Amino acid sequence: MPRKNRGGMFVISAPSGAGKTTLCNRISRKVPHLRQSVSFTTRKPRKGEINGREYTFISEPEFRRMIGQDDFVEWAVVHGNYYGTSRQRLEDIMAAGFDVLLDIDTQGARQIRDSWSGGAYIFILPPSIEVLRERLEKRASNTPDDMERRLSRAVEEIRDYGMFDYVIVNDILKDAVKELEAVVTAERLRSENIDKVWLKNNFLC
Ligand code: ADP
Ligand code: 5GP
Repeated sequence: MPRKNRGGMFVISAPSGAGKTTLCNRISRKVPHLRQSVSFTTRKPRKGEINGREYTFISEPEFRRMIGQDDFVEWAVVHGNYYGTSRQRLEDIMAAGFDVLLDIDTQGARQIRDSWSGGAYIFILPPSIEVLRERLEKRASNTPDDMERRLSRAVEEIRDYGMFDYVIVNDILKDAVKELEAVVTAERLRSENIDKVWLKNNFLC
């Protein structure tokens, strides 16, 4: 379907370790016209992470300065670190006609939901808390304290599932990717996303 020029927004949240980063990376490689927005954070880079690719890593004073300048569409403190989505980066992606994919926590999802119209909100669940723990252990980049903090926060985040439009259980990765792709496809086919000029010129003149 010929679509309007401006891109839309997909907001994806999940408890840490549920597989959101893995799913977002897979889907952005697989589906055309979809771009991930790189967030700013005060968290230290994990092994293998590159500044500007997974995140833009900045200091807390820099982050606070950006808050003061209203540079973020949303920001939150998650597991003791600041994270935020740049208004400019979001605007650039959408203005270029790409759909933007935001991998953010439930506090950020709520802020966007309260301030933007439209967008699709997707919550990713692990198959169980035990599997969530195993995945966090496998990632092996969290201290034991950090792990416990992430697990107890997981339960709080799962309580917020009702604010999302879709819930996907990330058990078998390829199935979850397929389900996420189906959501993106369905959202793109919404009637409000059609190119109205194309419709008018082809059928209504
Ligand atoms: P999040 O971004 O939600 O914190 P990650 O994408 O970093 O989670 O995934 C956490 C760990 O679980 C990683 O080691 C990843 O490879 C693994 N993982 C993700 N999805 C699956 C899956 N469906 N089955 C098994 N392991 C998975
Ligand atoms: P991690 O440190 O494991 O990469 O991410 C921790 C949490 O921060 C995840 O739930 C992730 O979705 C969230 N997060 C990443 N970027 C942002 C952001 O820009 N805003 C908000 N609110 N949360 C974010």
